[in-house]
Amino acid sequence: AVVTRFAPSPTGFLHIGGARTALFNWLFARHHGGRYLLRIEDTDKARSTKEAIDAILDGLDWLGISGDGQPYFQSEFETRHAEVAHDLLAKGAAYRCYLTPEELQARREQAQAERRPFRIDSEWRDRNDQPEGQPYVIRIKAAREGETVIEDLVQGRVAVANAELDDFVLLRSDGTPTYMLAVVVDDHDMGVTHIVRGDDHLNNAFRQLGIIRAMNWPEPTYAHIPLIHGSDGAKLSKRHGALGVDAYRDELGILPEALTNYLLRLGWGHGDDEIISREQAVEWFDLDHVGKSPSRFDFKKLENLNGHYIREADDGRLAELVAPRLGIDADQKSQLVRAMPELKARAATLNQLSDGAAFLFATRPLTIEPAAADLLGDDTRSLLERAHAALAQLPDWEHEALDSAVRKVAEDAGVKLGKLAQPLRAALTGKTTSPGIFDVLLLLGQSESLARIADQMK
Ligand code: GLU
Repeated sequence: AVVTRFAPSPTGFLHIGGARTALFNWLFARHHGGRYLLRIEDTDKARSTKEAIDAILDGLDWLGISGDGQPYFQSEFETRHAEVAHDLLAKGAAYRCYLTPEELQARREQAQAERRPFRIDSEWRDRNDQPEGQPYVIRIKAAREGETVIEDLVQGRVAVANAELDDFVLLRSDGTPTYMLAVVVDDHDMGVTHIVRGDDHLNNAFRQLGIIRAMNWPEPTYAHIPLIHGSDGAKLSKRHGALGVDAYRDELGILPEALTNYLLRLGWGHGDDEIISREQAVEWFDLDHVGKSPSRFDFKKLENLNGHYIREADDGRLAELVAPRLGIDADQKSQLVRAMPELKARAATLNQLSDGAAFLFATRPLTIEPAAADLLGDDTRSLLERAHAALAQLPDWEHEALDSAVRKVAEDAGVKLGKLAQPLRAALTGKTTSPGIFDVLLLLGQSESLARIADQMK
């Protein structure tokens, strides 16, 4: 059965590249009815933080792609990692290397001075003596002839000459494992069958295969997915939107289903389909259709998708999400739910939704935006007075009655409906855009509407 894993190092936030890797692992496992594991690679204790761990768990939970079962923490398996390093020693596939950091540095400098690439070439690879009480690292005895080939599900056949692979460290002199060793041991022990990760790890895969082969373990299938680039084609950085997943939620007001749909389409396709539900994604997802070239992050596209999912979303749920942004109470929340069908038609993000809803809860006298203030000059006062008079007399505050009353005022004043609706909207909302003018009147109710209009007649 298929077993995949997402193996983030908790040294920073869960960024969208990581979220997409997690999503692809989740989808691949679900598609095959397999398991998807989460392993927090916290062996770098100096750089791993509790905040980063929480941000990863929280972000995955929000996106609906938490690991199956409890997450693993790599640091719990250090004894096992060391055991494998010693197994490799016993098999003659690794050796104790006593080169000191100073010796290594001197060799590195010499290589630089001679303008040749530096490559570990430790004499300890073939020495049998063992200096008593000296610190050592355990290095792999990497193959030097031939080549290592990977049939990668995304990259295709990739080969590297073994002469390029060096005798990398498995176990440091303090007995702690390197990433290279730990990742291989854990993937094996957890029965991982498919390794789906960013293609910045492709080079590591050749080295990791060296360990796997030396241990005679089954080889996993690799799928190295291209990284996400910015809209200008450059490597994704903060200015491109390489933000934490939490920023997409909290600062940009993106819905999780929109972000996962967007991330899915970033590098994978199913014909021309843009809107893909979770169920469809599970049914269709494969690794064969992941493109080989880096995909470009396009915030506009994400926003469009988000607008779609906002329009689809339940009004109560949206009100829950927007209420904290508006700081409103329970009564106002039900007012917000009632207004939601109108509001959500005009918003692509939760921020826009909250901006659009703000007029409902504004306190009088309203703050009028400059563009709206321009619509409220002396020349419109008499129009507003006529409207106020007509609306004050309405016995029924409902759509049809409002519609004919407002139209009649415009007609009597000899202006087009828009010429009246614009200053009315400005007076009622303080803005130049809002739901339709009759909806605004309905949502605010008669007395609040009249009071806001009167405020602008003074
Ligand atoms: N922990 C590694 C990282 O965050 C990933 C390891 C892997 O996927 O093999 O880059």
